[in-house]
Amino acid sequence: MKQLDLIIQNPTGLHARPAAVFVNTAKQFQANIRVQHGAKKANAKSVISVLTLGVERGGQICITAEGPDEDEALAVLKTAVENGLGDELPGANGHSTGPTEIKPAPVEQPAAPSRVSDSIRRGIPAAAGIAVGPVYQFQPVKLTIVETIATPEEERARLDAGLDSAKTELQTLYQQVLQRLGAGEAAIFEAHLAILADPDLRENALSYILAGQSATQSWQQAVEEMAAALAQLQDELLAARAADIRDVGQRVLRAVAGLNHSGPELPAEPVILIAHDLSPSDTVSLDPNRVLGFCTAVGGANGHTAILARALGLPALVGAGPDILTVPNGAPAILDGAAGTLSLSPDPETVAQAQHQRQTDQTRRAAELEAAAEPALTQDNHQVEVVANIGSLADARQAVSCGAEGVGLLRTEFLFLDRPTPPTETEQFEVYRDIVLALAGRPVIIRTLDVGGDKPLAYLPLPPEENPFLGQRGVRLSLARPDLLRVQLRAIFRAAAFGPCRIMFPMITTLEDWRAVRQMVAEVQAELVGPAVELGIMVEVPAAALIADSFAREVDFFSIGTNDLTQYTLAMDRGHPALSAQADGLHPAVLRLIAQTVKAAHAAGKWVGVCGELAANPQAIPLLVGLGVDELSASVPAIPAVKTQIRTLAWSKTQELATQALACATAAEVRAVGA
Ligand code: PEP
Ligand code: MG
Repeated sequence: MKQLDLIIQNPTGLHARPAAVFVNTAKQFQANIRVQHGAKKANAKSVISVLTLGVERGGQICITAEGPDEDEALAVLKTAVENGLGDELPGANGHSTGPTEIKPAPVEQPAAPSRVSDSIRRGIPAAAGIAVGPVYQFQPVKLTIVETIATPEEERARLDAGLDSAKTELQTLYQQVLQRLGAGEAAIFEAHLAILADPDLRENALSYILAGQSATQSWQQAVEEMAAALAQLQDELLAARAADIRDVGQRVLRAVAGLNHSGPELPAEPVILIAHDLSPSDTVSLDPNRVLGFCTAVGGANGHTAILARALGLPALVGAGPDILTVPNGAPAILDGAAGTLSLSPDPETVAQAQHQRQTDQTRRAAELEAAAEPALTQDNHQVEVVANIGSLADARQAVSCGAEGVGLLRTEFLFLDRPTPPTETEQFEVYRDIVLALAGRPVIIRTLDVGGDKPLAYLPLPPEENPFLGQRGVRLSLARPDLLRVQLRAIFRAAAFGPCRIMFPMITTLEDWRAVRQMVAEVQAELVGPAVELGIMVEVPAAALIADSFAREVDFFSIGTNDLTQYTLAMDRGHPALSAQADGLHPAVLRLIAQTVKAAHAAGKWVGVCGELAANPQAIPLLVGLGVDELSASVPAIPAVKTQIRTLAWSKTQELATQALACATAAEVRAVGA
């Protein structure tokens, strides 16, 4: 047996992503590998177990390995830890790069659940929308399991059969969610599959079976111990993982006991569901004909349940506190998901208003969807292209049904993240081709890999950077690793044989960057004798906007990334919780850069899109149209509403508004112009 002591330098310690890289590295070896941190010990091949160590930055771990490849295992783990396990480590000069783990954007949350009055309960807004109806207290079905303890071998076989059948269920659910809601939501169930495959969970359960317990008792005990250990770490993200472990635990338990999962039992009449918590599996199986919305006592806006509610379009509030569980069944209520309130026993007039609001919202959404395939023409017949921002094949399919006239931004990062090696040319080609085919002749703008800085890749250890957002991001990284870019360009050119593709480069700042990538495109095109493909750049750095006239002579199009353009223009981190209100894309400085870009492009006969969040912002849309932006690229669900709003505008009027906005000195003044 060999052993090794190491210090974890990762800014967030041995947290989710570095822990996953550590475990995947350990799994490559036959040796039995354990990690010790203080008095806690973990199996290095179990991600749950490694997470429960709670190793923080600067923490020491002792790794022991025993087996035929023990030396190699320790050497490779040492290098992996020293290289940052997919994170950037603090610089050798002692500077810190800050946390690199991608955490969900913070959502404004009330300090604590509160009673505004006896009749209004407040929680955390989770999914917008209004629900009006009787409440129904959802009690999770208590599994009644009749215990008959057989021999340990038979109990072990029962457990393994249960694990197998839960795996099949989860694989099916993953595919269904992928098709219905998209890759982001499906990833929740991919994580459940990883929990199911965790060796420690199974081994702990087996040890209880050997001690004479039944398969179900043993499994329950193993799951509860792991979930409780994570929940105890008092970390919001890890606590959320504990809920996922329990959800997977219940699924396996039902499978072992031979019980079906048909989702929560509900009354026939549609209700507002109230629950202590809802598991992701329960949430995704809610029947929208019987559930008007839901309110939970616990949970946060970034938990999996809230994410699923938003994707399902189900009004929801979470974290409303335990008081909510005492509301009697059948009590009439109004749930406002955007405001985060549940109003109990509302008077008839308030009910009528809410019903009216709900009806109006629904009618408006249905009408928007009905007209989504029509072009977005202003009242005075000026057309604005409305296209989609997508990140998966499922998004492409949904984009078409929501009326997208093409794809203005395919974020290709999803192909590169969370894997030990880069995707091959064929893997990439197949995905791009399928997206092109799903768009049935509509054009797609494929953005080349936009990682680095805040989005580390396990197979691409980057040197430490003091300011990752100002470092080797986007195209700069592609130029530093031309091998990766070349493979991606080859895959895109091959896909372009199946339908119209355009290529766009992120974070272009200098003409030299642009010319270098254009040269590489020309080489790849010549190698493959590829079709002509339009080439454009993202304008997301002020420098690119300021010399847009020079770029306009050489590129085919511009797409303005207002998320980053706002960040770099105002020098405000786009994810900074304290600056989120001020990091406003409607700041006149940002608008003036947009105006300058459009002017330069049009003078050279080129077109301009906007693909940042501003493109779907109702206050920004008239101004962008008035500034002459030719294309708005928005998230898929926003497309019908964007088109509808454009149809209400008169282009001549929006031009006047835009001129006024450009003369403003503050974002507040700009907002007043649009009001
Ligand atoms: C942007 O910066 O506005 C943009 C669309 O790109 P991303 O959000 O992917 O950085
Ligand atoms: Mg960007």
